[in-house]
Amino acid sequence: MANLAHVAMLVVAAGRGARMGVGAPKQYRPLGARPVLAETLARAALAEINPILTLIHADDGAAYAEAARLSNVAPTRLTSATGGASRQASVRLGLEALAAAGFPEDGLVLIHDAARPFLNEAVLLRAILAGARHEAAIPVLPVADTLATLDEAGMLATNPDRASMRIVQTPQVFRFGLIHAAHQRFKAQDGFTDDASLACAAGHDVATFAGDADLFKITQEADLARATLLLQAGESESRSGIGYDVHAFTEGDHVMLGGVKMPHNRALLGHSDADPVLHALTDALLGTIGDGDIGVHFPPSDEKWRGASSRVFLEEAARRVLAAGGRILHVDTMILSEAPKIGPYRAAITGKIAEILGLSEGHVGVKATTMEGLGFIGRREGIAALAIATVRFGRG
Ligand code: MG
Repeated sequence: MANLAHVAMLVVAAGRGARMGVGAPKQYRPLGARPVLAETLARAALAEINPILTLIHADDGAAYAEAARLSNVAPTRLTSATGGASRQASVRLGLEALAAAGFPEDGLVLIHDAARPFLNEAVLLRAILAGARHEAAIPVLPVADTLATLDEAGMLATNPDRASMRIVQTPQVFRFGLIHAAHQRFKAQDGFTDDASLACAAGHDVATFAGDADLFKITQEADLARATLLLQAGESESRSGIGYDVHAFTEGDHVMLGGVKMPHNRALLGHSDADPVLHALTDALLGTIGDGDIGVHFPPSDEKWRGASSRVFLEEAARRVLAAGGRILHVDTMILSEAPKIGPYRAAITGKIAEILGLSEGHVGVKATTMEGLGFIGRREGIAALAIATVRFGRG
């Protein structure tokens, strides 16, 4: 059994990317807003994996430092070493660096190509689990296309049976002592294109686990274009907006709070139904898309909104968020009121807001406080409400 308290990753990034022709080596080419290597490191940084040691070319120190910074991975988890003239030599040097740092023989090491940025938690966990059970394991994909071998004239010679064929990816996982020794043994025999073939040549059993189609290697310009599309499709961000509203008391017999009518010896003064809770929520939602505020969309000067139900405002803000690609995850509101007491109406308000926004009640916060007699609210001159909304944009 491997020692799962020690899981390291080697990221092989020392190549010059001759296949891709002009420009920076492929691992430093921009993918979205940061280099490919930054994306790889960011996605490699599963909590269980420490350290992440990148093998770099002697000329790439500054480019590596920038990629490491842009990965946003804690600098204490990232380290680098100068690689060798071949992929095999780079990995050996990385293993030697881990050994020199005291990495235990029964620890696991994942060896990964920098030019395969789209690591995900599932495939990393599959690798670690496979590494716990076997001496060595590799991610593989079935072959969908028909395969052929050609003769010297470029004519079809044979069609190998694809059923037993697999595409081999990285991260490949090994018991550290095993792969360290295997690399030492084949030190003088360069030319292994991956570490599993070297482990196999050293007589070790290499198990397999399911790879991931997104773990393709960026070697051609077309791969970089595909990677860019994949990155854009997977991008999501969470945004929060805040809102605040106040309405003063006037003559009347009820107030509207959170879309719920509450009997009271006063009413709230306003152009619409003067519901500060729904107004604050409307502003919070508009804030997540930078789309002005409630006064811009529903000006008090417009007779259309006289006496309007504030539900209309909140629904319109939610529609605008949806149209901008947002999905409302959660809203929270705080009602500042001396009277009426909110407690007896909390469930009704929660239900009403959940219904308007299409949220479950567990994703709607409704809270209230008095102001201990202080200030305009304490003097019972009006009611205020605060709100915050959290919205996710993009996939996820
Ligand atoms: Mg208002």
